[in-house]
Amino acid sequence: MEAIYADTKYRDVPVEEKQRLFDQVKSDMRWEETLYGCYECGICVAACPSARFYDFSPRVYAQIMAREDIHAFYELLNDSMWDCSQCFSCTRCPRQNNPGGIITIMREVAVNNGLESAKAALTAYSRIIYKIMSTGTQVAPDMLQPDFFPDWGPDVTAVSENLDIWRRMVPPETLHTTELAWDVAEKTRVELFLIWKLTGNLEMIESLDEGIFMILEEVMEELLEEHGYDIDDIDSVI
Ligand code: SF4
Ligand code: SF4
Repeated sequence: MEAIYADTKYRDVPVEEKQRLFDQVKSDMRWEETLYGCYECGICVAACPSARFYDFSPRVYAQIMAREDIHAFYELLNDSMWDCSQCFSCTRCPRQNNPGGIITIMREVAVNNGLESAKAALTAYSRIIYKIMSTGTQVAPDMLQPDFFPDWGPDVTAVSENLDIWRRMVPPETLHTTELAWDVAEKTRVELFLIWKLTGNLEMIESLDEGIFMILEEVMEELLEEHGYDIDDIDSVI
């Protein structure tokens, strides 16, 4: 479908490329449950935390995607989409639209296609990606120290002072300390590594950040080999 308004920012990107990416979003099995028409009531915007802080609107996603404006879609895909905090407050929509869900699919398409916007957005999370994919877990409660997170401001000091007591109010023991939270069973790590590999997640990381990919592959290869798997020939082993 032709654009409803003139494309200005990404006019050099071929229409076919925009259409190809749009088609990937639309062919996702979740797509059918994200859009049912829009009243333009603005409830999603009022509920959206990102709309308060950025030039961002969930209503725009519902409308642009519904009218299949591939030029505007491409602009969203490369810009404001990364401002969504994926809280899904926008599902209060009276038409049962799910702008946050549309953005989830769009982000996956951006990552799977190694778009520059995806690389830029995920660069800041490279340490987190590495930690989650190599250990199966990430931030443990007692990591919440003022020195580690200076960007979190003065509140983190007050919270961290009594963190031990706060955390012991949380039922799962693994949420109490770093030691417990990072004690992921080897069997679980092997299963996770197989999942990362078999679902193509590892290759997806390679297209985004080759450095992290190489470190991750090395960590995974070592553990998988110990358990009789050949990382380069996983499909035949399973
Ligand atoms: S999921 Fe995204 S679009 Fe929806 S309310 Fe949250 S931040 Fe806004
Ligand atoms: S809440 Fe739903 S119907 Fe209202 S503007 Fe947002 S997407 Fe449209």
